[in-house]
Amino acid sequence: MSSRKKVGFMAGAGLGAAAAAALRRRWSKADGEPPVERVATPPDAAGEAFLDALSRAIRIPTVSSDTGYDAAVFDEFHGFLAREYPLVHTRLEREVIEGHSLLYRWPGTDPDAAPFLLMAHQDVVPVEPGTEDGWDQGPFAGAIDGDHLWGRGALDDKGPLIALLQAVEALLGEDFAPVPTIYLFLGHDEESGGRGAVAAADLLGARGVRFSFVLDEGGAVAEDLLPGVTAPLALVGIGEKASLDVEIAARGEGGHSSAPPRHTAIGRVAAAIKQIEDHPMPARIDVQRPFLRALASVMRGPRATLLRNPDRFRPVVERRLSASPMTSALIRTTAAVTMISGGVKSNVLPQEARAVVNFRILPGDTVAGVLDHVLSTVGDEVRVTSRGFGGVAADPPPLSSTVSAGFAAVAATIDEVFPGVALAPWILLGATDSRFFRPIADDVYRFAPFTVTPDDMSRVHGTAERVRISDAAGAVAFYRGLIVRAGGLG
Ligand SMILES: [Zn+2]
Repeated sequence: MSSRKKVGFMAGAGLGAAAAAALRRRWSKADGEPPVERVATPPDAAGEAFLDALSRAIRIPTVSSDTGYDAAVFDEFHGFLAREYPLVHTRLEREVIEGHSLLYRWPGTDPDAAPFLLMAHQDVVPVEPGTEDGWDQGPFAGAIDGDHLWGRGALDDKGPLIALLQAVEALLGEDFAPVPTIYLFLGHDEESGGRGAVAAADLLGARGVRFSFVLDEGGAVAEDLLPGVTAPLALVGIGEKASLDVEIAARGEGGHSSAPPRHTAIGRVAAAIKQIEDHPMPARIDVQRPFLRALASVMRGPRATLLRNPDRFRPVVERRLSASPMTSALIRTTAAVTMISGGVKSNVLPQEARAVVNFRILPGDTVAGVLDHVLSTVGDEVRVTSRGFGGVAADPPPLSSTVSAGFAAVAATIDEVFPGVALAPWILLGATDSRFFRPIADDVYRFAPFTVTPDDMSRVHGTAERVRISDAAGAVAFYRGLIVRAGGLG
């Protein structure tokens, strides 16, 4: 997930740690249901190799931030990948995009079969200065203890990246030949804008490539999401919110503050902001219906009944979910007034005042719809201007199918690797690089084969990020299983 978007992995995965905590509180009139039983899976040989490689990958600090990145560190990382995965680097075609993003092509036996794309990103977010002490052995040590492998990027996103390459290398060693062509894309700046992904998608689009499906980060197997949930939930992202900045501005006459008009430019912007905050976009639980149903399937009691029938109990479900900021974000387009400026001196009337409202648009809502809502809410005393996000004003990407062959392959592989886990189609609150490939893909899914609790999620982009040792075998097995399954489809 991107730090720039300030959402955190599980927000990317769909739910921020705070959201998960809020959800837990909201539904926590708990009821003595037995805790979920966890069976730790010891790593097999592939899992051991994964842990060893991931530990070394973490030691190369591929940090990217809004101020850029150190090219030499990424060169070193590329060298590491080439040494570690020699078959990937001799049998697959490899292109370097935008300096340090990597695109691999594994030609299939049937050139007419639609290719698919598996993604992960090389870069990690910086460690916030002053928080280093919270990492027992340092953020870039890749330390392994009894239960966890620790380090910046362990989950986001070097764990998935290494598991993916480990699986491909093994399959190449067994001379596995996929029917459709398989692409791998390893971005170098997901955390700071995704220019690599934009360029790769443009390039592939220009070549006429169209993917049957794309798999990227952004979902996980969530444990302890709520009290009373009887099984872990595999959150598979089928959509994500879009970000949009809207500027609200007003001009004033200026002059001395001793003879002011009834409302200054600042007053008019303030009034508009108040209107926006008091008139949220309508809740749309329809969009989260598949998720609520999946949640209900692993819960018992009256809460499960509510969630199983969100339409019948719409007012109650809406009210409960709307009551906390985080759960409210699941079911509506949100508005956050994040910036304001105006005025130069206490006794001078401001000639200009402006504020920025950051909207997070739920799939089904649009940029145009948000602007209409704002215009009808704020009145005509202010100017309303769409600023887009990162220079682009884009609607949320369309939701992906839950009945496609790609989804079936992802779901069957999850079922195989994480038996007993219920699958929940999910809409991310954050954004992933995969959105740039949406125009050249039939479907985009967001899932990484790791088990996380709300505590684990809070460590991503935070302090003491980690993956479980017990997930090592399954992580490699997931990518292997998915490649064999989807790679066998003609
Ligand atoms: Zn990420």
